[in-house]
Amino acid sequence: MRILRPAPGVLAFYDGRVEGYRFSPRLNWIDEGALSLGTASFAVLDGDEALVYDTHTTPEHGRQVRAALEAEGARSFTVLLSHWHLDHVAGNTAFRDCEIVSTARTAELLRDHQDQIEAGRYEGPPGICPLVHPTRTFEERTELQVGARRLEAIHVDVHSDDAAVLWDPEARLLLAGDTVEDTVTYVEEPDHFDAHLRDLDRLLGLDPTAILPSHGDPDVIAGGGYGRGLITATQDYIRLLQRMPAEPDLPELPLRDLLAPPLEAGDLRYFEPYERVHRENVKTVLEALDAA
Ligand SMILES: [Zn+2]
Repeated sequence: MRILRPAPGVLAFYDGRVEGYRFSPRLNWIDEGALSLGTASFAVLDGDEALVYDTHTTPEHGRQVRAALEAEGARSFTVLLSHWHLDHVAGNTAFRDCEIVSTARTAELLRDHQDQIEAGRYEGPPGICPLVHPTRTFEERTELQVGARRLEAIHVDVHSDDAAVLWDPEARLLLAGDTVEDTVTYVEEPDHFDAHLRDLDRLLGLDPTAILPSHGDPDVIAGGGYGRGLITATQDYIRLLQRMPAEPDLPELPLRDLLAPPLEAGDLRYFEPYERVHRENVKTVLEALDAA
């Protein structure tokens, strides 16, 4: 795991995109869903207080995040969960003595799927056992104080309907979870596309100067993050997916061609493993719209 420093007092804990490395030789969600694409969790640190944004892909990653923050002087930890997907909550156990904040919807989804997640039957093995649940929930927005920094958690319906982004209004820094990804968003809830487009507009309305996604290019994250183009490119991609059922040529295009304009503009970086994500997205979208 690499520690990147995208902004003053902001740490990124990055793992994945390592050629030839696998967590396990068998098919599993840690490699397929998280490490092959690269995964970061983040922390905002001020004095001896740390706000941890996601606890990473395994309990061991969670322990490493905590140990790294303790080495930087952190003694008091609060966790904010970006959403309920496994690669974001698997390390919760390392923070089980701390306040863990999430949207009420995240808490509900984790409760509803607890047995499957613990047994390794939700995304398949490995299970996360015990699954450690949020201790405090919010509906729309909540303020989070870290030392002298005042941050805001905002509930949005993008990627998953329980998402919480972390907004630092002073630094104009947006920690975006999975609401945006480089190279493309992972589609799980295509029937919410209109909500996704609307709430991505809300994120643009914050006017962020830097955006840190959980899955993106480590060099861009280390360099301070992405610009607003990551959000508009995500909206354009969703609109392309929405057109696919009516335009049979579109689903045939590889990602590299479909996204040529934002790639050329530098809003996105091409990372080949996202071709697989895109194929899955196309299948998900065509099936959902067939069923509708
Ligand atoms: Zn994720």
